[in-house]
Amino acid sequence: MIKILQKTQCCGCQACANACPKGCISMQPDEEGFLYPKVDEAACVNCGLCEKVCPILHKPSTYSVLETYAAKHMSNETKLKSSSGGIFTALAEIILKEGGVVFGASFDENWNVVHAYVKNLEDLDKLRRSKYVQSDIGKTYQQAKQFLEQGRAVLFTGTPCQIAGLRNYLGKEYEKLLTAELFCHGVPSPAVWQKFLTQDTQKGKISAIDFRHKHFGWDASFLKISYQDGSSIPQAPHYLLPLLSKGQGFLFRRLYRLRFWISNLYERPACHQCHFKGLDKMANFSMGDLWGVRETYPQQYDVNGLSALLVNTLKAQGLCEKLALEKTPVDLQKVVKYNPYLLTSVKPHPKRKEFFRRYQTENFNSLVRELLKIGPTWMILCRTILSKVAHKLHVVKRK
Ligand SMILES: Cc1cc2nc3c(=O)[nH]c(=O)nc-3n(C[C@H](O)[C@H](O)[C@H](O)COP(=O)(O)OP(=O)(O)OC[C@H]3O[C@@H](n4cnc5c(N)ncnc54)[C@H](O)[C@@H]3O)c2cc1C
Repeated sequence: MIKILQKTQCCGCQACANACPKGCISMQPDEEGFLYPKVDEAACVNCGLCEKVCPILHKPSTYSVLETYAAKHMSNETKLKSSSGGIFTALAEIILKEGGVVFGASFDENWNVVHAYVKNLEDLDKLRRSKYVQSDIGKTYQQAKQFLEQGRAVLFTGTPCQIAGLRNYLGKEYEKLLTAELFCHGVPSPAVWQKFLTQDTQKGKISAIDFRHKHFGWDASFLKISYQDGSSIPQAPHYLLPLLSKGQGFLFRRLYRLRFWISNLYERPACHQCHFKGLDKMANFSMGDLWGVRETYPQQYDVNGLSALLVNTLKAQGLCEKLALEKTPVDLQKVVKYNPYLLTSVKPHPKRKEFFRRYQTENFNSLVRELLKIGPTWMILCRTILSKVAHKLHVVKRK
């Protein structure tokens, strides 16, 4: 019977709950809002399947990176609708066109992040774009298995631990299964997300949420919340929007609220000791942002979005040419250099415990600004401009 003795030993993938033949494992939120398995001991028959499928106890076989690309979707419109370069859409298009099913993270009616599937291109937008919150896998492993058993092609996307959980749950290779994992920094708490939404927005009237809005371009994206009446809250200082054009927004990155969601203040404990870091991959494809491209491959830079794509299996290699992607081979080491969390777990913020002690009763924004030491806007602007000037002078001196 699965027992979580240490929080760092459960990534919340839900393979155990999906596998339990008696359905006696439910996922319950802890005080930080992360889901953990809870076994109904009276109904448990001690079959041991929950432990067998746990990817932390039994890591699935891994794949090695065969090819590495700078890649982006051929359609500009798709790039703008995606968080990075639109690799996910290119993969999904192939599967949907052959009558398959695509799984990924979407929002439910209360803006919780949940895994779901789509069967046609018209619905694909639900799964597009990064949601910086741990997604609830629900019963999607069981659903994926049903489709595979019916002979349908399935693309399953998610974090590396979710792909590992799926593969353990399935227990065998399926010819028609394609997997794609994100480069994953770590997943923030669903309860903190709900606290932010309840306190900071008119939640009932939200029509769209984009964690990575590309008004200023891909590498300066910010959290934007749109409302049914047509208004929106760009989570960046409003007066900056008309002042800047695409490609200039990076100057003000430190002001954007996206920062809150990648601050390590409220990530899942297991993300700080992640079992899936490194270049041994869980999925056929790995996809992330090609950070550092202005330094490493400046000619590849695309203000509308650019991805790093790792091709990890022969199956993935076989598909590569069919994808609607523009791609150029790049050096894996250069990708890793600017995406260090591919190899190492993020460290918890020193104020993480304090955050969780105070977040239920205090104003979310003030608390985060205090703990992250985010000063007044004018000070951040001055500091950012000064550091940019210093960087430019340094580059000129080196030349
Ligand atoms: C929590 C999180 C952390 C990340 N950390 C990094 C990082 O450190 N470095 C980096 O380069 N890239 C990171 N990414 C990946 C990056 O943001 C893009 O998601 C990725 O490059 C795919 O972009 P795309 O343009 O191809 O497709 P898009 O259409 O933008 O992405 C959609 C894909 O993301 C998946 N997805 C979205 N939200 C979630 C979620 N909460 N849980 C599981 N799957 C989700 C969808 O299922 C779909 O497969 C992270 C993404 C998430 C969600």
